[in-house]
Amino acid sequence: TAKGSGRKRYHLFEASSRYNHVENFIHELALSQAIDKDELHLHYQLIYNPASGRAVGAEALLRWHSKNGGPVQPSDFIPIAEETGLIVPIGYWVIRQSCKDWHQLKEMYGPLFKISVNISRIQLNEEFFVGQVLQILKEEGVEPSVMELEITESTTLHSLQEVQLILSKLRGAGFTIALDDFGTGYSSLSMLTLLPIDKLKIDRLFIADGNVPLIAAILAMAKALNLLVVAEGIETSDHFHMLSDMQCWGIQGYFINKPKPITELPSRLDLSIQ
Ligand code: C2E
Ligand code: MG
Ligand code: MG
Ligand code: MG
Repeated sequence: TAKGSGRKRYHLFEASSRYNHVENFIHELALSQAIDKDELHLHYQLIYNPASGRAVGAEALLRWHSKNGGPVQPSDFIPIAEETGLIVPIGYWVIRQSCKDWHQLKEMYGPLFKISVNISRIQLNEEFFVGQVLQILKEEGVEPSVMELEITESTTLHSLQEVQLILSKLRGAGFTIALDDFGTGYSSLSMLTLLPIDKLKIDRLFIADGNVPLIAAILAMAKALNLLVVAEGIETSDHFHMLSDMQCWGIQGYFINKPKPITELPSRLDLSIQ
């Protein structure tokens, strides 16, 4: 019964004290209908390559505007979507929508422009994940080579072998893989040599701290491991110059542009004068 399953779900949230139970229960009900009610949207944040002065890609960031409850932050609803498994259908929606949008983005920024999509551990655990994703891309006429999948560092703390296997499959299919929020997940550095990945995204905490020696060490290590690096959280002109001078491959943050609906993205970025 509805009451029974409701109680069961409520119990799920009782286990995690960091959430407000009642509010989350309401969110969960609303979130399960968000796709059908057309309440989900994607914003895009450009990734800038200082060496060429061009936008080389954009990260798709999910937005939920509940018709009853108003806008809800990803930090509030993504954990709920993960705990309930709703992230699986929502994640497929994100992939399909970003494929649709890519056709427009490539007109604006060129055919090599990449779209980055965040993928949670729950999605990777889906039995038919690779096949489903490939099917969506095929239906939408998008090659895997223009899509990057971002997984957070904490994903790799669980069952390394399974993560290795699924990432190898995805890379074999042509996707590139980025390790998101790098430096916050307490994974060992040796993990980096074991994971089939292409890119590191340095967490914005390190940029905010202005820890130049640490950032330099990450860049040197990434170079030795043949990984590209994107720095997150570039908020100021100082950050911008710091990472550009250090020859970081990609930079992303409010200083470059804030995440925006596709219709509001600038057709070109001109940061060289700032
Ligand atoms: P993330 O993947 O690390 O995304 C970067 C977050 O930093 C985004 O927050 C972005 O808006 C924010 N950000 C970008 N530039 C700056 C800056 O200069 N300063 C500061 N302070 N923040 C900046 P957002 O959009 O709230 O997303 C939060 C997290 O939610 C994401 O972190 C990602 O882990 C998750 N998320 C978002 N969309 C999806 C999705 O479609 N699927 C999944 N599984 N997770 C998603
Ligand atoms: Mg990300
Ligand atoms: Mg990140
Ligand atoms: Mg983050």
